[in-house]
Amino acid sequence: MDEVDVLVIGSGPAGSITSRYAAMKGVSVMFLERRSEVGVPVRCGEFMPSDEEIVDMFPKLKDEASLFDIPDELRCIDINGIDLINPAGKTTKLEFSGYTTDRDRFDQYLAKLAQEEGAVLSKSHVFQGIEDGIARTSKGDIRYKVIVGADGPGSKVAQNLGLAKNRNPYPAVTAQVKGDFGDSMKMFFGGIAPGAYGWIIPKDGRANIGVGMSPKFSNGSLRSYFEKFTERNGLIPETKIMGKYVPSEGPIAKTVSGNGMVVGDAAGQVISVNGGGIPLAMIAGRICGNVAADNVLNGTSLQTYEAEWRDVMEAPLKTAAFNKKLADTFAFRSDFTTKMCMGILGKRRMANLIRCKRIFP
Ligand SMILES: Cc1cc2nc3c(=O)[nH]c(=O)nc-3n(C[C@H](O)[C@H](O)[C@H](O)COP(=O)(O)OP(=O)(O)OC[C@H]3O[C@@H](n4cnc5c(N)ncnc54)[C@H](O)[C@@H]3O)c2cc1C
Repeated sequence: MDEVDVLVIGSGPAGSITSRYAAMKGVSVMFLERRSEVGVPVRCGEFMPSDEEIVDMFPKLKDEASLFDIPDELRCIDINGIDLINPAGKTTKLEFSGYTTDRDRFDQYLAKLAQEEGAVLSKSHVFQGIEDGIARTSKGDIRYKVIVGADGPGSKVAQNLGLAKNRNPYPAVTAQVKGDFGDSMKMFFGGIAPGAYGWIIPKDGRANIGVGMSPKFSNGSLRSYFEKFTERNGLIPETKIMGKYVPSEGPIAKTVSGNGMVVGDAAGQVISVNGGGIPLAMIAGRICGNVAADNVLNGTSLQTYEAEWRDVMEAPLKTAAFNKKLADTFAFRSDFTTKMCMGILGKRRMANLIRCKRIFP
């Protein structure tokens, strides 16, 4: 039977960063990925906020520069704003900085950093469950001291640890189109179906396009809404349409149980109002990896992870979840209410909304 100090399930940003920081402290780390290639297929809008925007949202974050030190070749173009477009086509322009990436190459880079620190990546390897404190996997049993679930929104590790599921995750699909789309992201609210929104996120001579929807308000097929969105905006997808679920209600109640932790989407560490989760998975992953290693080396309680990530991220994430609830209650029911609420909010409050800040008073 394989034995390892820290077993991490998943090689997305949460899993790779957790593995990297745990391995940096000298413990043995293995991270499993059920897919045959890290990051493939891409199921993401591929936007990363700038360090300045991340710190503005999470002011307690320290040493962001080393965590988000992403090489230039992984940055497609700089993004300088967001255009929020209401159901009648009226645009509100907001400043917001960041860059777009190719998410497959991005995830592969993070996994490589973890491997360079000594973490062992095992691909096409599926975690199946925990029995008697041992991980059952498609390639045999693995004994571990600490297990980390970085296995995405429907986390099997969370379930096996007796932790809560993400409630009401919403489905979203994405594809790539060719063309020049400037340097502002476009977010379209309403116009497709109640509770559905679309995006065009510019890349170099291409763009990532997509549609997400709240099943609470729309019961049609997401693919048909995507087709409506592409037709309306004259977009011709060049790639297969890929989809996934996005946690929408903020972090789950507890992220530690026994000798296990969950991180990233598995923990609901996603900004409810815009579905952004890459930087959060990385912030929490660094804390998780450090605490996992400290637990193995000197018995540090895993509750330290719970306390530390909540200190940095919980308040802004709860504000975002509250704002999302307000939007669901008052705005997303129909095009009419969406348009009216966007008008009432105006530019300043919408800028607060996308930055996890309070919109009232
Ligand atoms: C359509 C869409 C668009 C998005 N756009 C953006 C965006 O533009 N910017 C942004 O910041 N965020 C975006 N997000 C959110 C972002 O993609 C996630 O928050 C982020 O990927 C979370 O990282 P993670 O490592 O927690 O999970 P994931 O990236 O989901 O990684 C989990 C990994 O675990 C693996 N896995 C799962 N189960 C098992 C198992 N049993 N055994 C082994 N391996 C397993 C999976 O194959 C996967 O590789 C978007 C999400 C969606 C769905």
